[in-house]
This record gives sequence, C-alpha cells and structure tokens, in this order.
Amino acid sequence: MLDEFDICNIDIQSYLLLKEGLKPVIRVGLNRSVVENAKKTANKLELKVIIREFRQIYGQKLENSLTHAYYSLDKELCIEAFDAEKRGDRQKFGQLLGYPECCIDNFIKNLVEGVDYTLLSLKNVRTKPSFYCNSLFVFDSKLNSFQMKTYFDNHKLLRSPHKLFLIRHVPCSFDCKHSIKIGKTTLKLLKNNSPDLAATIVNALKRPVLYWNYFEWVIFNGRQQGNTIKYDGILNYESLVKDEAKKIIENGNNIKIDDEKIVIFNDNEKTGEILRKDGIPVCINFQ
Ligand SMILES: [Zn+2]
Repeated sequence: MLDEFDICNIDIQSYLLLKEGLKPVIRVGLNRSVVENAKKTANKLELKVIIREFRQIYGQKLENSLTHAYYSLDKELCIEAFDAEKRGDRQKFGQLLGYPECCIDNFIKNLVEGVDYTLLSLKNVRTKPSFYCNSLFVFDSKLNSFQMKTYFDNHKLLRSPHKLFLIRHVPCSFDCKHSIKIGKTTLKLLKNNSPDLAATIVNALKRPVLYWNYFEWVIFNGRQQGNTIKYDGILNYESLVKDEAKKIIENGNNIKIDDEKIVIFNDNEKTGEILRKDGIPVCINFQ
C-alpha cells in the first residue's frame, strides 16, 4: 500500500526538513492521474500545495507536458517557487528548495551539455569526500535528455535505492560544509522518525565507490586505504555497470588503483584488471 508520502511523491527527508522550517519548498513531478489524491493527502499532512502544468521549462519546449507539485508550509512560497521555475530563475528556485548558495552557483556555472557533476564534486574536494554529500542515488537535475532516456529505460533498477540520501541537491564538492550541515541535520531528524531508514542510508552511503558515470558504479563492502581497497563483496544496489567489470570485482577481495588501471586481486593472486580511460573509473571514498 502506498503511504501518504508516496501518494504526494515526496521523500521523508525533505518532509522533515520542511516541517522544521529548514526547507522552504518541496517540488516534485506528479502523474496527472494522482493530482487530486495528492492534494487531499497534502492537506492531511498539513502542507500547502499548488499544482501546475508546464509545456515549456528552462527554455525547452516539452513533448509531453509536465505536472509539478509545490509543497510548503506557506502557500506564498509555493507560488514563488512556481514563478521562479516558470521564468527559468534557477538561483531563486534553488534558494526556495533550501539549497546552499555555493552549490546553486556551482550548478549554474557548470550547466553545459555532458557535464558530470559527480566528477566535478570530487574534483572540488579539499579535505575528503563526506558520506553526508553522497548523492549517488539521486538523479534530480543531473541528467541531460540523452541520459534521461537511459534513466527511464532502466527506471525500475535505478530507482530502487532512490530513498537513500541525506542531501537531495548536487553539492559543489563532496566536502561542501553547507551540504554536510544539511546532511547532518537530515540524519538527526531521520534517526528520531525513521531509525531503520537512517541506518540503511548510512550503511549505503559511507562506502568506497568505483565510479564510471551516473549509471555505472560499484559500491564496496570494505575499506579504502591509499590506493588500495580491501573488501569482502559489493553492495547489492544495482547499477548499469558492465557485467564483465562487476564479475572481475566480485571474484576478488582487494584492488589496487594506479593512473592507468585498476588491478584486482584475490588475496595476492591477480584475477583481473580494468583499464582507466582519462582517469575513469575513479574511486570515491565516502567516509
Ligand atoms: Zn556547496
């Protein structure tokens, strides 16, 4: 059975931040058939809501119109968010979603075809990647139209871990202190309201990851030290990573990373290697 959050298509993390007054607005897409039900349910959750259709967004004409719902504690803010989105004002819109200014700026500045925000967030790290900023399972705003097609073609598989995050936005870096603060607050609220989900999220996010692109990655059940990851398996969150690469990794229990390749070993016996092209795949050690 769908719960109230599912009916409104909102995540509990955003809802808790909204209720605490730490996030002005939640915006989601809705299927037109569920609009009336979402409105009723939002009332039950004591949320204000407006629902609007888009035939064009951020200067792009849409083949099929989109239905967006804006939830808030204050109806004026719903309207402001709709207006900002309608006129393509990403700065204002990001502010209304409660995103840090540095991350909004970074997002807008790098908004070009083919950008990989994950690689960018990694490149911008000054200290070490924080699991609070691990938004591997969130696809919002990251995808171009080509990637969007891949996402929808593999929707079921890619969506399965979609509730596992502590920040929803694209962080300017994986050690962005404003994002870490939001992540910490979210985790604290979750621990009080949904402790099992909180534990599942930390377990999924606080991991070394081998990353190719938005859809291809492997998450290790193990530890990274320097250029080595020792592991006793990979987490069963599926991605579109090639079967061959996945198999090689599953057959080993440690990998060594150098500039050109990733070498996989079972204890001391080499079992395979994966070539790195232009530095890809990269290891991101979320801790
Ligand atoms: Zn930031």
